[in-house]
Amino acid sequence: MKKLVLVGGGHAQLSVLRSLATARLQSVEATLITPSEHQNYSGMLPGWMAGHYTQEQCRIDLRPLVRAAKVKLVLDRVTSLDTHQRCVTLADGQRVNYDVLSLDIGSETASLSLAALGEKLLPIKPLDAFFAAWPTVLARVRAQPGLRLVVVGAGAAGVEVALAARFAFSRAKLNVKVALVVGSAGLLPGHAAAVQQRVRRLAERFGVVLHQAHAQALATPRGLTLSDGQELVADCVIAATGARAAPWLAGTGLTLDDAGYVLVDAHHRSLSHPNVFAAGDTCARQDVAMARSGVHAVFAGPVLAHNLLATLSGQPLHTYQPKPRPLYLLACGPRYAVASWGDWSAQGAWVWYWKNWIDRRFMRRFSA
Ligand SMILES: Cc1cc2nc3c(=O)[nH]c(=O)nc-3n(C[C@H](O)[C@H](O)[C@H](O)COP(=O)(O)OP(=O)(O)OC[C@H]3O[C@@H](n4cnc5c(N)ncnc54)[C@H](O)[C@@H]3O)c2cc1C
Repeated sequence: MKKLVLVGGGHAQLSVLRSLATARLQSVEATLITPSEHQNYSGMLPGWMAGHYTQEQCRIDLRPLVRAAKVKLVLDRVTSLDTHQRCVTLADGQRVNYDVLSLDIGSETASLSLAALGEKLLPIKPLDAFFAAWPTVLARVRAQPGLRLVVVGAGAAGVEVALAARFAFSRAKLNVKVALVVGSAGLLPGHAAAVQQRVRRLAERFGVVLHQAHAQALATPRGLTLSDGQELVADCVIAATGARAAPWLAGTGLTLDDAGYVLVDAHHRSLSHPNVFAAGDTCARQDVAMARSGVHAVFAGPVLAHNLLATLSGQPLHTYQPKPRPLYLLACGPRYAVASWGDWSAQGAWVWYWKNWIDRRFMRRFSA
């Protein structure tokens, strides 16, 4: 029996579970270690905040998938990895041995510079915690009108969350000021100027105040000081401040990039350990720059699945070629979205229905 251990129930690992269900390998004992029996789908989180979806519609139940794949499900977190002994250690102290290991643990929100905000700080990840906390924010707003919400983050997540919050408050007729702090480089870096302009205008139309400045938490946690000298008083600060790698990867002996992500080749195989694979936000490709976005975690999934099974059976590996221009569909609060694809962009209710169709189709693929 060979031992395949999957760490994290992320987007790419869902394809691995589906492949295992079809392959039904007799000589492989597979285990999935992940903290929850549900995998949240970040693409629909802004729609959930805006009230378009229930939480059930935004999460995948892993239990039917593991049952079909005959995979053992262990609900815990990996806290360390010993690549010499070929075993992972879980938060409860249990050790699990592997022959082949697959990491799809995502990334964390890089919000350390805002830590002085204390309880006011709400990082967007882990998503489980955010899903649990957002209804509390809504309840506070209802009890205490006039609250000030600040979202920090220039990327797609920051934009979508700020606009979703604005829409949720307006719909409930709640008086809340929403500001979005996008850093000195400005809104949606990496997207075409036309996309940035579209989103800027929509933010203005919907009542989200943009601040193009860097944010730091004040020593007394009244809110944020901005690099332009302004003080932004806040009752709640949502951090969508980009990704950081899980700190425990540093002690594993795996070759990492400068930011601490697992360096992989085009097969998504570790550069240092050929029996370790990684996909999604937790990896960095050595051969090509790849954004940390769900698109790549999803599309790398079938390749990861093939390569894990091929490694176990001595077959040739496949490569994953990221598309140079991935499509981004940015939800803007109401059933309205902006499409961004290289230099091409568009907006409208039809873009939202297009995004809704893609998201729901993805969820259906992994629903029982
Ligand atoms: C609000 C928001 C909207 C977004 N919208 C989009 C979008 O529209 N399009 C897009 O391409 N990207 C989007 N993204 C980015 C996208 O969420 C991530 O790139 C994507 O989730 C990465 O997938 P993943 O499989 O790497 O990790 P995840 O989806 O984060 O999954 C990782 C899994 O591993 C588990 N895990 C973590 N640590 C451990 C551990 N130590 N041990 C065991 N298990 C562990 C987690 O609980 C989780 O289940 C959005 C992000 C946010 C926050």
